[in-house]
Amino acid sequence: MTEKTVALLVAAGQGSRAGGDGPKQFRLVAGQAVLAHAVDALAAHPAIDSIVIAVGAGQQAAARAALVDRPVAAIIEGADSRRGSVRAGLERIAADGGAARILIHDAARPFLPLAVIDRLLNALDQAPGAIPTLPVADTLVSHSGEVIDRNALVRVQTPQAFRFDAILAAHRLWDDSREATDDAQMLKAQGTTVMLVAGDERLEKLTYPQDFARAEAQLGAGRSIRVGMGYDVHRLAEKEELWLGGIQIPHDRGLSGHSDADVALHAIVDALLGALAEGDIGSHFPPTDPQWRGAASFRFMEYAAERVAKRDGLIEHIDLTLICEAPKIGPHRDAMRARIAEILHLPVERVSVKATTTERLGFAGRREGIAAQAVATLSLPALF
Ligand code: MG
Repeated sequence: MTEKTVALLVAAGQGSRAGGDGPKQFRLVAGQAVLAHAVDALAAHPAIDSIVIAVGAGQQAAARAALVDRPVAAIIEGADSRRGSVRAGLERIAADGGAARILIHDAARPFLPLAVIDRLLNALDQAPGAIPTLPVADTLVSHSGEVIDRNALVRVQTPQAFRFDAILAAHRLWDDSREATDDAQMLKAQGTTVMLVAGDERLEKLTYPQDFARAEAQLGAGRSIRVGMGYDVHRLAEKEELWLGGIQIPHDRGLSGHSDADVALHAIVDALLGALAEGDIGSHFPPTDPQWRGAASFRFMEYAAERVAKRDGLIEHIDLTLICEAPKIGPHRDAMRARIAEILHLPVERVSVKATTTERLGFAGRREGIAAQAVATLSLPALF
């Protein structure tokens, strides 16, 4: 059982140093609102269970329009200050049952590499708070001309990650007459350790018009689309459960194999690994390894999604075709789509499940086994 992890996205700015029309969280970059890019980056990480957004007064309708159909748990009205907006978000999450871990992120930093989230969440195993930082590259000089030792300084980014109960308590205990530069400062005020992890240049805040121009250029030329395909077959046998597309289906026979033999998920895993050019399911989970005997195949798919995340990739689409005479797939199609989308942390609209028979020809036609084909479309940072 993994720990419930919620992302709180602060998008309550009203002003616009960046020029252009309106608050920068709603400005378009590569055809999508900055806020939508931030939600996509968070939703792509397999550990993040839900996203809550704090917007400014009167911005809820604009936020919904900018997000189109992206799944968010709540869009709440924040406050005049960033601290107040975060507090409102924390109280809402607490009222909705709380969480174990929280990432607090600024919508103005929409290009969030998933590896940064990995580093933050790993650090939370050792401390109640963790923040991404970057070294200071430039020489720093005070207004009086004194050179400041840059090695003593770091640049602090978001998201900042916390044990939920710890940061909620820190916010509730904070003296309201004082402002806080960030949430980590509030946790430290309680005498609590905050770990520093490596940040990423891509996380820099979009502030000025040239930041938007640069982001537009990077996104346009900065991603490449990769397509991977996967194919798998398993034998139908008596006295086996039938697991297909991540769900159990009542049937007179089931698929047999080393794991639960979910041929659909195996094909998707191979499609994902294929798009990454990182081998196949057999090379990552050898059938000779006893630890995978009877394993639930969603674990293989979670692993493949993590490999995508480690490469800062996004799964754009999954298209699955099941090839069998029986059972009928139609009645189970939506449940499969929902389960696959859940495992991969995708909107269900990005998961297609189709089925065909083979006119009773071949092994599938003779009901000896079920075959599955999958195509995975990813976008990855273009490095070459
Ligand atoms: Mg297989």
